[in-house]
Amino acid sequence: MRFEKEIKIRVDSLDEIEKKLKELGATLVSNCFERNYLFDRENELFRKGEALRLRSFCDKAKLTFKGKRISSTNYKIREEIETPVGNFEAMAKILRKLGFRESFYYEKKRKNYKLEKCLISLDETPLGKFIEIEATEEIIDRVAQLLGFSRRDYITKGYVEMALEKGLKRLCFQCGD
Ligand code: CA
Repeated sequence: MRFEKEIKIRVDSLDEIEKKLKELGATLVSNCFERNYLFDRENELFRKGEALRLRSFCDKAKLTFKGKRISSTNYKIREEIETPVGNFEAMAKILRKLGFRESFYYEKKRKNYKLEKCLISLDETPLGKFIEIEATEEIIDRVAQLLGFSRRDYITKGYVEMALEKGLKRLCFQCGD
């Protein structure tokens, strides 16, 4: 089983972080506008704490299953199964045929940086700017520290969770909500 381990940190400026990352020798691996669709069958997955996400980004797509969150105070840890999808529309149709419906939509602008075994995402979202650090617990702490943050700054919530807490039905830059 592959587990995703990550944390988010809310920041004022992504430019500053990006500058630091470059100084540390991190390399930019992608820079995409993402459209994310959660699919569910009458909240079946949501109730179990699981998620099925179809993401469209930079003319590519991928399907991700996320398992129930594993209890951890400082980090967000979930099983993750992910695969590239050749045709976004066809995959969405298959999911609908299986009884799944889009249950949440969210957008973000994401720049991915790689620093050794760590993935650092610089996210611009309708909720604000965040960085996400994905690695082992030890590396997350080390990289966060290098960027000037500590465990006190860690957010273990996902964007969907943050949106739902605010009563938002979707996270969209120009939807007019
Ligand atoms: Ca992640």
